[in-house]
Amino acid sequence: MSQLDKQDPRTQFPQPPYPPQSQELPGGTNAMDPKPDHGETSYVGTGRMPGYRVLVTGADSGIGRAAAIAMAKEGADVALNALPEEQEDLEEVRDVIGDLGRKAVILPGDLTDETTCERIVAEAVSTLGGLDSLVLVAGHQKVNEDITTTSTEDFDLTVKVNLYAMFWLCRAAVPHMAPGSTIVTTASVAAYQPQTRLLDYGMTKAGIITFTNGLAGQLASKGIRANCIVPGPIWTPLQPASYDSAEIEHYGEGTPFGRPGQPVELGAAYVHLAGPESSYTSGSTLTIAGATGMAL
Ligand code: NAD
Ligand code: MG
Repeated sequence: MSQLDKQDPRTQFPQPPYPPQSQELPGGTNAMDPKPDHGETSYVGTGRMPGYRVLVTGADSGIGRAAAIAMAKEGADVALNALPEEQEDLEEVRDVIGDLGRKAVILPGDLTDETTCERIVAEAVSTLGGLDSLVLVAGHQKVNEDITTTSTEDFDLTVKVNLYAMFWLCRAAVPHMAPGSTIVTTASVAAYQPQTRLLDYGMTKAGIITFTNGLAGQLASKGIRANCIVPGPIWTPLQPASYDSAEIEHYGEGTPFGRPGQPVELGAAYVHLAGPESSYTSGSTLTIAGATGMAL
């Protein structure tokens, strides 16, 4: 079965309960059971991003890996960023894309540093020969049950990864972008309905939507578009690295489809917003949350 075959969304992918499991942040793909589907074999490309040169952050795992693989299968060359300690996951993605006959370069680096953000954009431009799309998927969340025990360091890290890095990367990328280029950011349904134990995370995700919307208006005069994907619960390393094992066993069970989404189920949305077919779409959000609406 491929992604283009009509299927029942309730049973299309593994449903909970899942085996007990937990990880430390940032988490890794190979420790997950079941292994997430990033479209390595299931995604079918139809030539929607011919020759596009794309920088993807968070490209080693989860949603970013699925976005990178989908865009490569649609004809794009990609530069892949993640944390240096995620080298193993990054290399797997590079090899999958290399086997497709597309160019893939890995650019590890911690995005909480302004200079690193600028270096990664510069290296993407020089290795790909230009930049047609900036796809920002990297994100950080850490559970803090009570504001009185939430450290300034934790709050600062969430804001640095989710907001500052977005600003630094966009600022560095825009001068390299010709008319027709695109920016795609990644928020969360937590922007609308924050989890009480993820106060800082929900706040930054609302900020990403607002920033993207405003940036779209600002960049329209340059012919550059900006849009935001808003995921609901998706089966990625971020979850076992955030929640305890008992919760992960039942992750997504209470949602209308009775399961979390798989990363591959977001791939086509990134392709749509990053590529040429969405030419009149800018300042939009696209929610992919399995009928959960805002009530997660
Ligand atoms: P993931 O763990 O696979 O991806 C997150 C990635 O962020 C990591 O792989 C890492 O490479 C990157 N990252 C974190 N800190 C970084 C730093 N300091 N420097 C560079 N990179 C850093 O998990 P995912 O679920 O695929 O997350 C991707 C995006 O989707 C995130 O922005 C997340 O907030 C968002 N999201 C996820 C869900 C979900 O249920 N999985 C729901 C809503 C939104
Ligand atoms: Mg990762």
